[in-house]
Amino acid sequence: MLTCLCCGKQETEKMLLTDIVYFKKIVSANRCQMCHSKLVRLANEPTCLGCCRIKQDENDSCLDCVKWKQLYPKYAFSHTALFQYNLFLKEWLENFKYKGDYRLAKLFNQELTEYFNMKNQKNKQYIPIPISQTSMKLRGFNQVEELLASAGIPFHPALIHVGTGEKQSSKNRKERMESKQPFKLDENYCSQLKNQQIILIDDVYTTGRTLFHAAELLQQIGVATIETFSIAR
Ligand SMILES: [Zn+2]
Ligand SMILES: [Zn+2]
Repeated sequence: MLTCLCCGKQETEKMLLTDIVYFKKIVSANRCQMCHSKLVRLANEPTCLGCCRIKQDENDSCLDCVKWKQLYPKYAFSHTALFQYNLFLKEWLENFKYKGDYRLAKLFNQELTEYFNMKNQKNKQYIPIPISQTSMKLRGFNQVEELLASAGIPFHPALIHVGTGEKQSSKNRKERMESKQPFKLDENYCSQLKNQQIILIDDVYTTGRTLFHAAELLQQIGVATIETFSIAR
């Protein structure tokens, strides 16, 4: 018997046969069939090569990525997102991040473990996007760090949030795009990260602004490569 983390419904393990086929191995299930069916896995969709958004047209890169490339000509765009940021994921994030339902950190353990245990991911350094002091006081935890810790993925909290902590979600697109660099690098990490392969990790890729701010700082200290990752796009 499993109790769905999202809706609380109880289901017998037998019901999860399609899950097992889908992942081609036994999953430690923590969501019911109904909730699972609401997830849109981006690996199965045609997506923008730059940001992993579901393609709107035939071009390899979406218009936003074309603009980012003008702003960051030397940056190699490589973003992986697991799921489309749909209503189901908005609700998950709302309950986890803002209402503080801590158990929901576990929801993507299986997918996170799979992704970060792939062969080509070994020897890379994982850096979560930090949250502001204001959010930390309010929430008590960094949702990205919790997701990683919950899945047993080691990470380096090398970025420090020094911004004012205005909620990105309360800003419109233009305000987000104009926001100032909110991060600085923890000096203890600078020499350690030099020439390393980095994966920057966030919960949601919205405009890309946050991840580009973080990437800028890492480029300045001479890391080898930067990729980015988010649960949702
Ligand atoms: Zn459910
Ligand atoms: Zn794109």
